[in-house]
Amino acid sequence: MTVRTRVPLLDLEAQYRPIRDEVLAAVVRVCDSQRFIQGPEVEALERELADALGVAEAVGVSSGTDALLVAMMALGVGAGDEVITSTYSFFATAGCIARLGAVPRLVDIDPETYNLEPAAVRAALSPRTKAIVPVHLYGLCADMDPLLAIAGEASVPIIEDACQAIGATYKGRKAGSMGTAGCFSFFPSKNLGAFGDGGLVTTQDAALAREVRRLRNHGSETKYYHQQIGGNFRLDALQAAVLRVKLPHLSSWTAMRRENAARYRRLFGDALADAPIGLPIEPDGRFHIYNQFVVRVPRRDRVRAFLTDHGIGTEVYYPVPFHLQECFAPLGYRRSDLPAAEAASESSLAIPIYGELTAAQQDIVVQTLADALGARE
Ligand SMILES: *Cc1c(COP(=O)(O)O)cnc(C)c1O
Repeated sequence: MTVRTRVPLLDLEAQYRPIRDEVLAAVVRVCDSQRFIQGPEVEALERELADALGVAEAVGVSSGTDALLVAMMALGVGAGDEVITSTYSFFATAGCIARLGAVPRLVDIDPETYNLEPAAVRAALSPRTKAIVPVHLYGLCADMDPLLAIAGEASVPIIEDACQAIGATYKGRKAGSMGTAGCFSFFPSKNLGAFGDGGLVTTQDAALAREVRRLRNHGSETKYYHQQIGGNFRLDALQAAVLRVKLPHLSSWTAMRRENAARYRRLFGDALADAPIGLPIEPDGRFHIYNQFVVRVPRRDRVRAFLTDHGIGTEVYYPVPFHLQECFAPLGYRRSDLPAAEAASESSLAIPIYGELTAAQQDIVVQTLADALGARE
């Protein structure tokens, strides 16, 4: 059955419409300057983002994936090292570790927050541990205090995968400002999305920022003289110009997502009080930015098919945890090794949460989900 989507998972057009003129003016400005690589737009964006994120240094890069890669390169991750991270994230988190020849030490998640379980991180430490990479999944910060304590005792850096968490806070501290480095993505579906790929590395450490700047430009500070081997991990001026238009709107867009999350909680409380559905939590002291609003349901794939048939966009983040991915079979993990992540991969379902989602659309989502779960009337 095909149905016109009544409630898409994400509606980028709705966000674009009111800022269209401003965006086009910014694009024209870059075109007229004919400066497309690095330059003043990128530098201005870096300053604006450093201010917004509460960090000393922000370095624009080509994607969130490359932010993780270049941060790990700058911190010396390589062959023979182990990097501890969550088994439950977007592929790049573990992929970058493996690409550098290091071994991802995959650990389980807290089933309530979907974030790294600190006790499991402690148990995974070894003399080869080179870094710990917590993921602030769906826009909620990982439990950073215990993670920072563990990293401090072991003298290893924390690289925050904040790709889904721009603007999220933990006990008043911003995502990406707590670890040795923070990594952000401007993939269009992230809360601050570019018109293509883009990313950012944040740090409080000027020497580390300098290293990241060098690595993003083939390990070179002076043209054609290379102190080290880097890559082309640069952010385009066109993307920077678009992001500069969007950045001033970010906090109001976040507020709209949070209002939608609060409305879902009320609606689910009314329509689904007795239904077997798990809602996302926001622990005390944490400010969730709801890049995704992920619910837990039984027979998830059937529920999802029902929603699709009724014109509601959903997604599964993520159907296969890293330790069960084919490409990581050589790491030797088995099913049931990391049960919380496996359970999440079978029951989690992201429903529409974008800022421009209307109350009427939310009603449709909740009522359709109630029907799917057989919980209505
Ligand atoms: C989006 C994302 C990335 C990768 O970002 P890209 O810009 O798509 O390369 C990495 N980690 C997480 C958790 C993400 O959500």
